[in-house]
Amino acid sequence: MSDFEAQLDRISKKKYKMLIDGKWENTSSKKTFSRKSPSHDIVVGHYQEGTKEDVEKAVTAARAAFDSSDWAVLSGSVRAKILLKIAGGIEQRLEELALVEVMESGKPIAQARDEIRATVELWEYAATLCRHNHGDSHNTLGKEVLGLILREPIGVVGIITPWNFPLLIVSQKLPFALAAGCTSVVKPSELTPGTTLILGEIIQNSGIPKGVVNIVTGYGFPVGSTLAGHLDVDMISFTGSTVVGKKIVVASQSNLKKISLELGGKNPQIVFPDCDLDAAVDAVVFGVYFNMGECCNSGSRLLVHESIGEEFTRRVIALSKKVKVGNPLDETTKVGAIISKEQLDKVLGYVEDSAKEGAVLALGGKRAQTKQGRYLEPTIITAVSPKMKVAREEVFGPVLAIMTFKNEEEAVQLANDTIYGLSAGIWTSDITTALNLSRKIKAGTIWVNSFMDGYPELPFGGYKQSGVGRELGRFGLEEFTELKTVQLHIGKRNNRWID
Ligand code: NAD
Repeated sequence: MSDFEAQLDRISKKKYKMLIDGKWENTSSKKTFSRKSPSHDIVVGHYQEGTKEDVEKAVTAARAAFDSSDWAVLSGSVRAKILLKIAGGIEQRLEELALVEVMESGKPIAQARDEIRATVELWEYAATLCRHNHGDSHNTLGKEVLGLILREPIGVVGIITPWNFPLLIVSQKLPFALAAGCTSVVKPSELTPGTTLILGEIIQNSGIPKGVVNIVTGYGFPVGSTLAGHLDVDMISFTGSTVVGKKIVVASQSNLKKISLELGGKNPQIVFPDCDLDAAVDAVVFGVYFNMGECCNSGSRLLVHESIGEEFTRRVIALSKKVKVGNPLDETTKVGAIISKEQLDKVLGYVEDSAKEGAVLALGGKRAQTKQGRYLEPTIITAVSPKMKVAREEVFGPVLAIMTFKNEEEAVQLANDTIYGLSAGIWTSDITTALNLSRKIKAGTIWVNSFMDGYPELPFGGYKQSGVGRELGRFGLEEFTELKTVQLHIGKRNNRWID
């Protein structure tokens, strides 16, 4: 058995437990569930099927760690050292984390490694914020008053994550919550819990006090729903579908907890004739097929100026034919396996419906022929009109819908003609066009002559039904804080209400 095969054998036999109050625990249900790799059809992990009681225990531990330990008032420098130790621990286990991510999610190994590297950067960046979590002061309220605005950690944060970027997304939330001084209960997706649990092992070795980070695995109901409605949870930070996001809003009414929601997208790439067309073609192909199109930021709509519509489409189709689909363990693969049979059927359903609605299938549209696993061919649909489902709904697969526009005004109108507002790409060499569109498009992130790159410093989140709140950057830290005003009276207080 090669080293690699031995590692694969080890991960597939792993029986994970849950992290509650500093200990690795079995679920009260005594039930476990397992995950079959979407690329290799083999079991790649066994996990605890968490219950309401497990969530209760985890929230009690997080509450106690917040209310009764020194965690929330620890100095920024000590907190930063803990986060840096966790960043180092992730880096040390990069290969193992990447392999688990690939086997559970189906994403290509080279991409998974890049994501783990980006995850390390998120923890390192959050460490820098630990020492910059400060409020404000007002020294202009008159000679007898000093106003202080303190930033305090919000408390116990429930973190609920999806399956498409498991370790990266939990790391857009957890280190920022910890930097602010919060404690947490994390619920990873039932399809990809492995890397979050390995992160738990790394966190355990960092010297963090018990109960500060808890991880409960299992399904949306009851684990996620119990967390979202829990009276002792002060905030839910959720990434997932808009449908479940709305359920989180309803559940949060129990105690009016704060919510932060990162939801779906139907993101346009808008191409003008004066741009670097070679770069735009490449970015359109990358934007739609990256992570099999299972990506909130997927550039699933191409809006191209009518004067170059045909030629540009031809070039996008030609480049799409070169995209390598298949075994995600192959270093050169660009598009791996589709996460579940339901997702595969859903994507094929969109392709079928678009044909019924009068669109043209210009490329792909079928399952790729492979001995194992489930894969989709890169797919391009042309003659799309704005009312078609494929132009409006989040497909979450490698499917590009192409439309043309006549002028800037129509480009903006088409770009905004969606319930979502997560991101958009603008391709032009005209600074005025770039700025006009950047201002007019309702989306949380605009890329000009680029697509889907990101930095821990820059906030990320959605307009409209793409979400509430922002992650990353200074704003990402502030999401996990509460403001407290302290008014200080200076000297003797003379203005009596009753003399
Ligand atoms: P999902 O909404 O089905 O599940 C997300 C998480 O919520 C999972 O952990 C799930 O178990 C849990 N959940 C399900 N029902 C719940 C309930 N009633 N209460 C509480 N928790 C519940 O999403 P998914 O299919 O895992 O992920 C795909 C979706 O995530 C897509 O819509 C995608 O756009 C979105 N997403 C958004 C971003 C972003 O940053 N905006 C990033 C990645 C993914």
